[in-house]
This record gives sequence, structure tokens and C-alpha cells, in this order.
Amino acid sequence: MPAASTNVPPPDDRLTIVCLHCDKPQEVGRKAMSITCKFCSKSLKLEDIPIKDYQARRVIETVGVVTVDKKGSAITDRINCGGLIVRGKVKGNVKSRGPVFVGPEAEIKGDVIAPAIAIGAGAVLEGRYEIGKLNPQ
Ligand SMILES: [Zn+2]
Repeated sequence: MPAASTNVPPPDDRLTIVCLHCDKPQEVGRKAMSITCKFCSKSLKLEDIPIKDYQARRVIETVGVVTVDKKGSAITDRINCGGLIVRGKVKGNVKSRGPVFVGPEAEIKGDVIAPAIAIGAGAVLEGRYEIGKLNPQ
């Protein structure tokens, strides 16, 4: 009897995310908005976070994408996210697991760590940038 294949693709309602805290990949339900990491037991947001106005928060954390609209300002100690799109203003340190897109005339004041970045003409960037230094999982 042939051995069962181990190459069965995951079903469509699951996706693999990487924990922001312990960097361990795990499967989650596609429709889940948040989970508790099964490795480090910290809570993880999975939803995208739109920032459409002035928002001051200690941290902004999600496995999803943070989008700062043209009229949005994110004032925070740090943003830890799966991706970042900035059309408005960000003040705070950014660590993104996915690409960071900075629109024309957007502004980031803070250090940025990301695997890739795209910057529009006229964007204002102040801080240290480490691009491409995240360890791939
Ligand atoms: Zn974890």
C-alpha cells in the first residue's frame, strides 16, 4: 500500500501567518480577526488597520496591512505590521514584515525596518532605514 502523500495543500479557508512576537509561522482561519499565538500565547490581530484621521496610540500591531490615508496621522511608539501603506503622516518606529509603500508627499518620522520599500516623489523621510534585513522565515 502506498504511503499517504504529505504534500496535501492546506484547505482554502486557512492561511499561514507569522507571529509578530515570536516569528513562528502558524495556520489560522482565513476569516479570523485575531488569534492567540499558539507558541508564545500573545494575542495577534489579523485584520488590516485603516488610519483615516489623527490617531495617537502606544502601539499599532497587526499581521495585516496598516494603511494611513492622506488625511491620517499615526502618532505611536511603534508600528509592527505585515505591510504598511502611508499616504499621510507617521511618527513612530516601523517594523514591517511586508513591503512599505510611501506615497508622494507622505511623511514618516521614525526608524523603518522592512524587506522592501517604495517611495513616491516628494515624500519626507526622517530616520534610519534598514531595508531587506528581515530574516526570511
Ligand atoms: Zn508568537
